[in-house]
Amino acid sequence: MNNNQNKYDIIIIGSGPAGYTAGIYASRAGYNTLIISGVLQGGQLMNTTSVENYPGFPDGILGSDLMSNMLQQCKNMGTKIINDEVSSVDFKQTPLIINVGDKKYSTRSIIICTGATPKKLGLSSEEFFSAKGVSYCATCDGAFFRNLELAVVGGGDSAMEEAIFLTKFASRVHVIHRRNKLRASKIMQERAMLNTKIEFHFNKNVIEITGTNKVKHIILQNTETYEKQTLDVEGIFIAIGHVPNTQLFKNQIELDENGYIILKNKTKTNIDGVFAAGDVHDHIYRQAITAAGFGCMAAIDVDKYLTELE
Ligand code: NAP
Repeated sequence: MNNNQNKYDIIIIGSGPAGYTAGIYASRAGYNTLIISGVLQGGQLMNTTSVENYPGFPDGILGSDLMSNMLQQCKNMGTKIINDEVSSVDFKQTPLIINVGDKKYSTRSIIICTGATPKKLGLSSEEFFSAKGVSYCATCDGAFFRNLELAVVGGGDSAMEEAIFLTKFASRVHVIHRRNKLRASKIMQERAMLNTKIEFHFNKNVIEITGTNKVKHIILQNTETYEKQTLDVEGIFIAIGHVPNTQLFKNQIELDENGYIILKNKTKTNIDGVFAAGDVHDHIYRQAITAAGFGCMAAIDVDKYLTELE
């Protein structure tokens, strides 16, 4: 072991609700716990405005406030936090190794909570109107658009689910899909097709999002005729898939064909001592509260694992 090697019982990689919750539970259970938070602490919730569905906050709470509260709770429990990016990992030896630049950390266990990133259309206007009408989560932001017209981009199960959910609030939901055939499962397609508030626009790409301070219109282009059309909408929900943040773990742990971590038993991966929690393995629920729940489960599973080792 080299001189600057730091030793921990548990290292948590990532600082969304899963990572912070795992930190709170692990430190409270008495383990020497480190969170390597990434440079941008707090995860996806740092990009949302008010979170109205996280239990315990009847008037809602700003995503950034929720995350700084969780960070403070970790610190109060004694979790050490390093505000940096992991550069590489080595799970092929015991103890497990994590490198952060030229610093090497060794640990008896790891909880991977690196989350997932929603795929983007790649338009500069998409960035400009982010949280000003552009959203990647209907459950998070749908209620802000009561009685308004909205668009959903995508043709998969997520897009159908988001569109159906948004009809609870919106006066009309336009689903924009780049092909003439949906990718979504038959049952989800049928549900969306039967919903009279949903209008489908096939063979169309969103090529621009316009407005002043908030989204007012989107410009669509037909993929066959290249004809352009403007739709008046107050919000656009982009549901074209997610990319799990697992680049670091390729060739180290088992991932599925989409890059999500495969869990073998509860929160355990295929490598002894390596656990995962939150959107990095969960492509179904993707909520702050479920990520926090998975973080709690992983910390309890690690506790059992470390206790059995002793
Ligand atoms: P997905 O199945 O990969 O679908 C992504 C959709 O977005 C596709 O229709 C794709 O078009 C479109 N798309 C991708 N990139 C695009 C781009 N740059 N511009 C425009 N459109 C683009 O992703 P998902 O819907 O998030 O689902 C992921 C997984 O979770 C799936 O296995 C799904 O079944 C599952 N899931 C299940 C449920 C449920 O059962 N209730 C709910 C949500 C998700 P193309 O079709 O042309 O490729």
